[in-house]
Amino acid sequence: MRIDLHTHSSVSDGTDTPSQLMRKAAQVGLDVIGLTDHDTFDGLREARLAASEAGVTLLPGLEMSCRLEGASVHLLGYGCDPHAEVLLDELAKIRVGRSGRLPDMLARLASLGMPLTETEIAAQVGASPSLGRPHVADAMVAKGYVADRQEAFDRYLGEGCPAYVHRYSCDLRRGIALVRQARGVPVIAHPWGRGRDQQLTPAVLSELTMEYRLEGVEVNHPDHDADTRQRLGALATRLGLLQLGSSDHHGLGKVNNDLGCETTAPEVYEELVRRIRSRGGRL
Ligand code: AMP
Ligand code: FE
Ligand code: FE
Ligand code: ZN
Repeated sequence: MRIDLHTHSSVSDGTDTPSQLMRKAAQVGLDVIGLTDHDTFDGLREARLAASEAGVTLLPGLEMSCRLEGASVHLLGYGCDPHAEVLLDELAKIRVGRSGRLPDMLARLASLGMPLTETEIAAQVGASPSLGRPHVADAMVAKGYVADRQEAFDRYLGEGCPAYVHRYSCDLRRGIALVRQARGVPVIAHPWGRGRDQQLTPAVLSELTMEYRLEGVEVNHPDHDADTRQRLGALATRLGLLQLGSSDHHGLGKVNNDLGCETTAPEVYEELVRRIRSRGGRL
């Protein structure tokens, strides 16, 4: 069984529609695919239909923008009830923050000599309810300001770069509680990728597990090197956390994240499904 539990469609910042992504999953030989768009459940309905037509199993998910002591942390939620009011309210608040920073970003880019209109951004966002920096990066590519998303992030959009604008995200402890209230399973995405180990120390991960009932971490992820995987895997074993492996595929939008390049063990997937079923979540 080949299982990839963290992917993005064009409903957030991936480049494949949910249907295209499900077909691609079948083509690359996946048995199970998790769709985890940023801060929205909107792609799941289409994905569910397309998955059954393509002959793959969908694990419905979400990647929620959270924050811990000022640092951005991504929280995956699997099997959440997509009608859970409090969670939906929080996701709406995060998405409002996503769009709200756009005028400031555009002003900064203009002052750097890279003017872009809201219409040019809208052309990249398409029908996505979850505006992301990758859409801005794509508009910059379309204008010829940068060669690709990576260059846009490295020079302008990444944290600490001149066109970076802070946005609202949910407190991580509250995010974990909201996923659990929605009968889902909370898992921290790429916990030790891109310097996040500074905030998500072993002591903090232990507290999140014991006191907030975090249930898993991504261990095998393209942002983790071999040594990181080894140390994080050992910690996860000690804490009794589920250990996931996933590509974080974004279609053409990210180069080291081919669909199925990292996978989750069948026993771990089955345990996730068992927990979602037992608490009445949505599969
Ligand atoms: P945002 O959601 O607007 O905060 O933008 C974050 C998203 O940008 C992440 O989910 C990734 O998909 C993407 N991203 C972050 N860093 C990079 C990078 N260095 N290169 C390409 N994409 C990135
Ligand atoms: Fe993304
Ligand atoms: Fe992420
Ligand atoms: Zn992701």
